Amino acid sequence: MAIEGGCYCGALRYRIEGAMPKGGLCYCRACQHASGGGPNAFALVAAESFSWTKGTPARFTRPDLPTAVTRDFCPECGTQVTTLRPGQSKRIVKIGTLDQAQDWPGPGFAIFTAEKAPWHHLPPGLPAFEGLPPTR
Ligand SMILES: [Zn+2]
Ligand SMILES: [Zn+2]
Repeated sequence: MAIEGGCYCGALRYRIEGAMPKGGLCYCRACQHASGGGPNAFALVAAESFSWTKGTPARFTRPDLPTAVTRDFCPECGTQVTTLRPGQSKRIVKIGTLDQAQDWPGPGFAIFTAEKAPWHHLPPGLPAFEGLPPTR
């Protein structure tokens, strides 16, 4: 089974081998910028399962942050597609870029809820953490 996705304009395309892992909803301020205001729905995909199949992403890393993530986005339409966190081999894939939303089993937790807006509503029953979840 392979899952495919890409950016808004189609210049950037990717493929994920295997089933899509469960992930989370991130309410951090940076994700609000990236998503347009909502939480960012994401899943962590093993590096070896992910490949770009069309186009080359543009990349951005904030120079003013000591442990800034690197954001891969489409150089044509600007859609943010994946993120890489320093010291983490798994790739953070933005669920909104999947061709079929139903390929994702859904969020297992919410993170950075301390930064959510007053009008954000957490899905009932979803485990929520004010920052990153405790390491398991
Ligand atoms: Zn694009
Ligand atoms: Zn975030």
